[in-house]
Amino acid sequence: MDVCVAVPRLAVDRPFTYVLKEEHEAGTGSLVSVPFHGRTVKGWVLGPAGDIPEGRLLPIRKVHSQVRFFDGQKLRLLRWMSERYIAPLATCIERSYPPRVVSEEAVEGDGAAVDAATPARSPSARSQGAPGRYAPPSPATGLAIPSAVLDRYGGEGLLEAGTTTWVRPLPDEEQAVCVEAVAACLATGKRAVVLVPEAEPLPATARAVLEAFGDRAVAFLGGDARQRYRTWLHIRDGRFDAVVGTRPAVFAPLGQLGVIWISREVHPGHREDRSPYYHVREVAMARTRLEEAACVLASLVPSVETAVEAEAGAIRTARPARRLERENAPLVETVAPEAEDRSARLTALLRRARSAALIVSRRGYGVARVCRSCGEPAACAVCRGPVIVERGKAICRVCGSAGVCANCGSDSFGVERGGTERVAEWAARTAPGPVLKSSIGQQPSPLPGVVVGTAAAVKDVGPLRLDLVGILDADRALVRPGVHAGEQALATWMEAAAWAGPRSEGGRVLVHTRRHGHPAIQALVRWEPLPFLLSEARARAEAGFVPGHSVFRVAGSTALGESLPAAGAASVLATAVEGGTLCLVAVPPKDLARFRKEVLRLAGQGDVIRVEGEPQL
Ligand SMILES: [Zn+2]
Ligand SMILES: [Zn+2]
Repeated sequence: MDVCVAVPRLAVDRPFTYVLKEEHEAGTGSLVSVPFHGRTVKGWVLGPAGDIPEGRLLPIRKVHSQVRFFDGQKLRLLRWMSERYIAPLATCIERSYPPRVVSEEAVEGDGAAVDAATPARSPSARSQGAPGRYAPPSPATGLAIPSAVLDRYGGEGLLEAGTTTWVRPLPDEEQAVCVEAVAACLATGKRAVVLVPEAEPLPATARAVLEAFGDRAVAFLGGDARQRYRTWLHIRDGRFDAVVGTRPAVFAPLGQLGVIWISREVHPGHREDRSPYYHVREVAMARTRLEEAACVLASLVPSVETAVEAEAGAIRTARPARRLERENAPLVETVAPEAEDRSARLTALLRRARSAALIVSRRGYGVARVCRSCGEPAACAVCRGPVIVERGKAICRVCGSAGVCANCGSDSFGVERGGTERVAEWAARTAPGPVLKSSIGQQPSPLPGVVVGTAAAVKDVGPLRLDLVGILDADRALVRPGVHAGEQALATWMEAAAWAGPRSEGGRVLVHTRRHGHPAIQALVRWEPLPFLLSEARARAEAGFVPGHSVFRVAGSTALGESLPAAGAASVLATAVEGGTLCLVAVPPKDLARFRKEVLRLAGQGDVIRVEGEPQL
């Protein structure tokens, strides 16, 4: 048998062959222990050996579990992942299922006892009371849901095997179109995975699917280790037709897959935060290709990557008629900000608003600008980072230390006021209703009233009808560093703006900006994100990072600066670090296989120490 040893190093990223005794009753996906370089290490059986090596074969020492952690089909996906992100296969396998809780395996097979003792659904899936949640006409039956909304997005064509489609839902239909697509999928006898970007608060789309499909659906998000592992085992047993979850659910062990639906595809939560930094969009597209299912990327504002592929026709687009999109969009007005992110126009609108959301890009009460004792510019004494004032205290925004002057140690600063706390303080004197610094999705709901928050407060809470949505410091959000800053800013604004409801019902959005002509601001005003996203794609390409090219951070010897371009890297940024080189490289898809082979060779001779696929830039 070929075994992948659980030694996550590229230098040993190949199968090793062992003898498996028949009485072990193991096979592809079994977790085993094998002798490896004089030690005993864990590993997974990949299948019958390809080439039997010369010489004496060692036996597999132990089979740990009757559970098979992957089958041949899932192994193909994990191998794709290992190649795409140049990550050891062992690391990819480990990421594909939750950490084992052995005692949960012991009770498996005693089905009745398990059912009685454990609710299969996460408690949060049943919490009630979020505004505007989608109410299907006949809950828990699944199949009786009409497809009136789905028809606007291509109907059942959306589920065509082997396709990927960007769906741009009308704000009021974000949950409904997902529920109807899952219903259409289940009606054909296939199964569905719905991926949401975060677990808490439960996104409205996740809630809508769980409520619509009752016992046929399961929440695979949040919860403790025991509950997560148990749910994974139950999914694997085929107990559910629909799985709703966060990132790891893209690997959910579900047969007969019909569709993977990614809600709010642009959200940073869809990207893994440990190496390999896989994106669920890429994994879902690969999985649906391998399993002949459909992939849907649903987003009011897509990612730059999706926009580029949709423009090129590589993925399909499903959006309602332009006229319908415009009618369902709020009226967006721009005005130049005055001091502390206020304006006379904002004051006038806020005075008569019963409900409002005000979005600012900074937390806290203000930014320390100058030390009152010595007159030096304010900087953290520990890390020299910027000092902000939050809850009445000066703290470093970078390292979180108490904010004291790096020059003289004083904690008294001249503060430039602005941020969620300061805006909330001011709004409380201006707005007629209560004011809270909070997220709209949190319970208890602050509405009606005014919510002040950062981008983190903008969540999938279902349709709302706020009197006013204010984007109070758009220009500051636009100059944030990071290659994804532009698309994230626009997505946050548009998702928040949608809370104002359609212009025909008085939906109104006020944007503070001095850059009325900026493509991102124009995208918001016109309710059309694509031109801006394509301009972002061009800017990234000019900086050496063509959307669609793979980016790697490679650490190793000083030889790397020369050997990586020869291996197929289109652009290389090499930095000398202690004892070696750190390279940031971009590789076109056509050269990826050659590049990977060369990196593995370099790893074998010790020139490559570490590779991170798609690092955070
Ligand atoms: Zn600091
Ligand atoms: Zn000072």
